[in-house]
Amino acid sequence: MVATGLARLHAQVLGCTRCVEAGLLSRAEPVLPQPWAASVVLVGQAPGRVELVARQPFSGRAGRQLFRWLVRAGCTSEGDARRRVYCTSITKCYPGPALGGTGDRRPSGTEVRLCRPFLDRQLQLLQPRVIIAVGGLAQSRFLPPGPLAERVGRCFDAAGVEIAMTPRTLRAAACGGRGDHPRPWVLPLPHPSGASRWLNRCEHALLLDGALLLLAALLHRERPGRGDGVGIPP
Ligand code: SF4
Repeated sequence: MVATGLARLHAQVLGCTRCVEAGLLSRAEPVLPQPWAASVVLVGQAPGRVELVARQPFSGRAGRQLFRWLVRAGCTSEGDARRRVYCTSITKCYPGPALGGTGDRRPSGTEVRLCRPFLDRQLQLLQPRVIIAVGGLAQSRFLPPGPLAERVGRCFDAAGVEIAMTPRTLRAAACGGRGDHPRPWVLPLPHPSGASRWLNRCEHALLLDGALLLLAALLHRERPGRGDGVGIPP
């Protein structure tokens, strides 16, 4: 009954006004994916302006780049990736533009704290094998502090301990085994926004290549529609 539980949770999130009541947002308009079951969960920072209009996570330019990466990791298309990966974010509402800068405002610690029970419940319902943590805010939720260059291209267990990707571990991952590491496994990716200069360096692009190879192994056995058959996309 995973998808049914998710649908109920989504209804609660869509009615949430906590950040408005706390004076942190002028409007609460949560953006959520379709409530179908998946054992890979992708967590980003927060929806942007385009997502707010499209009512779908990762619909803007950064999202298109992200789905190009997922296609490189073995998904056949954006639609296939959306069926296989439940895409959500640390906070569910558009935080508005950054003050005096470009791009969107990073949600405050209070917004993150107010919204955290929803992400906790999403993860509790889905029990993912793999969490793809996109960008610094999502990675800070799952991993100890550290530079991006020491995260991308690596995989970590639920305790934040790096998992050595030996042939045996990769075989276990591809077969759905848990190996010796507590789940979920966390795979960090850089933020796909064009505003990020991190990928301009050749060595960082190579780290991303490695991360997508790892992701390809982890996604290998994923088939869309795991769960109870409710909410499975066409
Ligand atoms: S960001 Fe989260 S906690 Fe804040 S209003 Fe939106 S759904 Fe509620």
